[in-house]
Amino acid sequence: MSDIIQLLPDHVANQIAAGEVVQRPASVVKELLENAIDANATDIKLIIKEAGKILIQVIDNGKGMSQTDARLSFERHATSKIKKAEDLFNLHTKGFRGEALASIAAIAHVDLKTKQAATDLGTYIKIEGSTIISQENTATSNGTSIAVKNLFYNIPARRNFLKSNTIETRHIVNEFQRVALAHPQISFTFYHNENEIYNLISSNLRQRIVAILGKKTNEKLVPIKEVTDVVEINGFVTKPEFAKKKRGEQFFFVNDRFIKNAYLNHAVTSAFESLLSGGYYPTYFLFLKVPTKSIDINIHPTKTEIKFDDEKTLYAILRSTIKHSLGQYNVAPVLDFER
Ligand code: ADP
Ligand code: MG
Repeated sequence: MSDIIQLLPDHVANQIAAGEVVQRPASVVKELLENAIDANATDIKLIIKEAGKILIQVIDNGKGMSQTDARLSFERHATSKIKKAEDLFNLHTKGFRGEALASIAAIAHVDLKTKQAATDLGTYIKIEGSTIISQENTATSNGTSIAVKNLFYNIPARRNFLKSNTIETRHIVNEFQRVALAHPQISFTFYHNENEIYNLISSNLRQRIVAILGKKTNEKLVPIKEVTDVVEINGFVTKPEFAKKKRGEQFFFVNDRFIKNAYLNHAVTSAFESLLSGGYYPTYFLFLKVPTKSIDINIHPTKTEIKFDDEKTLYAILRSTIKHSLGQYNVAPVLDFER
């Protein structure tokens, strides 16, 4: 009898984990933008080339990393965001798994430049397929720049399965929009093949929505606001007459994290009731704030699905809040007319 089980080498384990975290260039964009936000950046630049297949770079003005942390950031399960199991139920950051950079570095060529405000020189690390190629001190601005080149260079099957540049870019734009909508106070720029796609100045939510979806959106927005013991709801839905035949402009954010939730989506659409004709979907931007301990974010690596303690109550509150706001909007023109 012989023992045949062995622990996989780190670079293999990282590559396996990468399969879950990094499905396409847009996944890298999401992880890097979220890291910049967790680093308290107020200004974030996204630069991509060839739909992210050649380059995805995020430059932030956040708190940067020390030399040691810069190296450690590429280790698996290495994170500054949680320390113990209980922290999983009290998350205030986008990240906590400590897997993104390790995964990305396992399947791409990564250049990291980072500097903390307190030091004169920053750190420059080049890493390829989980192997650190070089590390040196460098003059760079405060914050962090991570350039991810040649994604999936060592996984030909994945690389070949990437969709056209148009489709991959659409996924990236979607991720960018979600993050930019969740953080209107942060300024963002986005360049694709040296063309400016977005240049968003620090603003409030309404201004950010208009900057992303166009000037015409402004007049279509109905504000939504409700505060209860279990949830605080903020945001906008568009007036029923502006509903669209396509899905895709439905945004839910829970504690500033974009999520997908068919059940809560139903709460919103059903609040419109007969105001919507069949096959039409309302556009909405809804921010739910709930106690961190009432949700579980750790059910999927990409964290776009979360579990609520009490989804039924949320559904009911959401539906009635939106119904009420739509009702107010609908009677408003009559009141104006009477005066
Ligand atoms: P997580 O975000 O789950 O902690 P990551 O692999 O994304 O895991 O990042 C690992 C660590 O590297 C983070 O916990 C953080 O300390 C550091 N880090 C990553 N990106 C940045 C950044 N842009 N600015 C400052 N620190 C960063
Ligand atoms: Mg992260």
